[in-house]
Amino acid sequence: MSLILCPKCGNETDVLYENVCKSCFFDQFQLAKLPHVIHVKFCSKCGSVYYQGVWSDVDNLEETIIRLVEDELMIHEYASNLDIYFEPQQLTPYMFLVRVGIDARVNDLPVNQELETEVRIGRESCDRCSRISGGYFEGIVQIRSTNRVPDKSEIEECMRITNDVVNRMYEKGERFAFISKSVESKHGIDLYIGSSNTARQICKQIESELGGKFTESPTLFGQKDGKDIYRVTYSMRLPEFKPGDIIEYKGRIIEIKNIGKRITGIDLSDGTRFAENHGKMNGAVLVTNRDNTLTAVLVSEDEKDVMVLDPETYKTITIQKPVVFTGDDKNEISVIKTEHGLFVIPD
Ligand SMILES: [Zn+2]
Ligand SMILES: [Zn+2]
Repeated sequence: MSLILCPKCGNETDVLYENVCKSCFFDQFQLAKLPHVIHVKFCSKCGSVYYQGVWSDVDNLEETIIRLVEDELMIHEYASNLDIYFEPQQLTPYMFLVRVGIDARVNDLPVNQELETEVRIGRESCDRCSRISGGYFEGIVQIRSTNRVPDKSEIEECMRITNDVVNRMYEKGERFAFISKSVESKHGIDLYIGSSNTARQICKQIESELGGKFTESPTLFGQKDGKDIYRVTYSMRLPEFKPGDIIEYKGRIIEIKNIGKRITGIDLSDGTRFAENHGKMNGAVLVTNRDNTLTAVLVSEDEKDVMVLDPETYKTITIQKPVVFTGDDKNEISVIKTEHGLFVIPD
């Protein structure tokens, strides 16, 4: 084996690393570098972390601290077979000490290094929390009904849908998916939403669950960095009728069963099925609602008709029997009283 002299220290060596002997090479070699202090900002309200210019959610504080340290850790390009471990220790609510151990191979020799860094935590309000507290909004969802006022249960249903959509959008990473405020009026309710995209999704969901339709109208409300900023008003119209409503339409008395793409129901005079497109329902008038059903004594029944006692006047009245009706063994049946007469309500 031929020996070489190290050009740096003059000692004899059999191999040169980067033109110096092994001991000179490792004297100047640094496996990894880490800043002594890492500054990070967390939101004092929701706990999000500000990192690389954006705020994002934190699932686990220690894991987030480790991720931050890992990103700051610089490892020498010659290192291979890396084995890195992190040992975070919370010293105060505002400070972590993180020890980092690295095992690696460099030029086929095992090398290890231990480092530590202090992660200092600053607290401030994140973009989302500061917008929420500042009442920020980009979209307004105005919930109204056609030719009537939405009732309490419809408003509750719309609020449930709104909360579902807001949570879903937020989980998908839409940071401004929040309800800034809600204002009830005699016409319905106005919901102020942090992002206009979320506001649109709310309307789409209401439309698919409750029917109705919405329009959007943007208004310019300012400029930011030379770009026009718009707020969008989403005008959500719930359908004129809802399931359980009993309406008069083209001389027929219909109980509404479902409102989706089409309005479906039952013709109460004979029990036949009814279906119509929304746009064609002009002239339909609300008569009453299934909630106003009364119980009437069934006097007799033949092939075509039933005879009942009017529950208010106790007069005997003959009404047409619905196709699916069976009065077998019944003493009483459900009826609805309208200005167009008495109708049997199928169970
Ligand atoms: Zn040397
Ligand atoms: Zn926050």
